[in-house]
Amino acid sequence: MEASQSSDDFGARRRLLKAALLGGLAAAAPPVGAMAQDRNQRQDPAPATLPAPARPMPVVDARFPAEMAPGVFVLPDKRIPLVPNIGIVVGRDSVLVVDCGLGIGSAEEVLALARRLAPGRRIVLTVTHAHPEHGFGAQVFKPDARIYYNAAQRDHLLRSARTLLDGFRAVVLPPAQRHLLDGIAPPPPDQTYDGSRATLDLGGRIVEFRTWGTAHSPGDQIVLLPEERIVFAGDLIEERMFPIVPFFPPMIGAGDIDLARWETTLADILSLQPRLIVPGHGNLGGPEIAEGLLGYFRELRAMLRAAGQPGPGLEASIRARYPTWENAEYIAPATRYLSQAG
Ligand SMILES: [Zn+2]
Repeated sequence: MEASQSSDDFGARRRLLKAALLGGLAAAAPPVGAMAQDRNQRQDPAPATLPAPARPMPVVDARFPAEMAPGVFVLPDKRIPLVPNIGIVVGRDSVLVVDCGLGIGSAEEVLALARRLAPGRRIVLTVTHAHPEHGFGAQVFKPDARIYYNAAQRDHLLRSARTLLDGFRAVVLPPAQRHLLDGIAPPPPDQTYDGSRATLDLGGRIVEFRTWGTAHSPGDQIVLLPEERIVFAGDLIEERMFPIVPFFPPMIGAGDIDLARWETTLADILSLQPRLIVPGHGNLGGPEIAEGLLGYFRELRAMLRAAGQPGPGLEASIRARYPTWENAEYIAPATRYLSQAG
């Protein structure tokens, strides 16, 4: 009996020891894959992941203007955040510059390019709207050029330039880029137009300006070349990016945005039957860019209605519906704007 008990006891202790050894070995030994990785790391000191690239400096690259029609040039934004697409339209007597970028350096590059492309012409600068990355360098043009806005844009600038400047410096630009706003003092325009449209004769080339009132911003306008059916749309249209619904109180409040009018404005732009749309940001394209944006706004409203309120779950669902679109950070302000003011 005792022997039997002893034998059982021995067997139990042996099983316990075996389990402890196996468990200990399993815990101590790295898996085969990890061993291979460790060996590789010893042989190659390179880190397993590459460091994230620094956010590109939002400076206009004026080296490669693309000629979209005779005398109609676009400086592509290269999809760099806070760099706009810039237009240069050359007439016999004058050259029109559409947007000049953010900061003194970008505006100087654009002005020098306009002089190169249109030597001896009078220079006119217009800005699609008063947001900093489109025109907060305009003072560079002041001595030589005529600055031409719509009245609402002038008023928006007078009312909000300081707030936008401070807000961009504090929360939009990373610290390493804030110097781009040093010395910026947005100048008032030399001339404005009232009402919804105006034309400018550059000499053998008529350019139209159209505005519908507050949409993406209080002073949005498009520049239309009616013969070529080219539209410079500013931030009313972005390409393969979530549109910037800039609801960032207190810097930009709901009163400076009107999404319903934005949608009717897009429909009106489409009724102009543009052949080429130059968006505020992103690649050039045809009417499909504006159609895609209209579809997005419709879907955004429907998804918000179905969800009941904004939130991370809704944002993730919207993002998943548009997997190739950039700037997903603009989904949240759009849903917040719509739930509060839309
Ligand atoms: Zn804008």
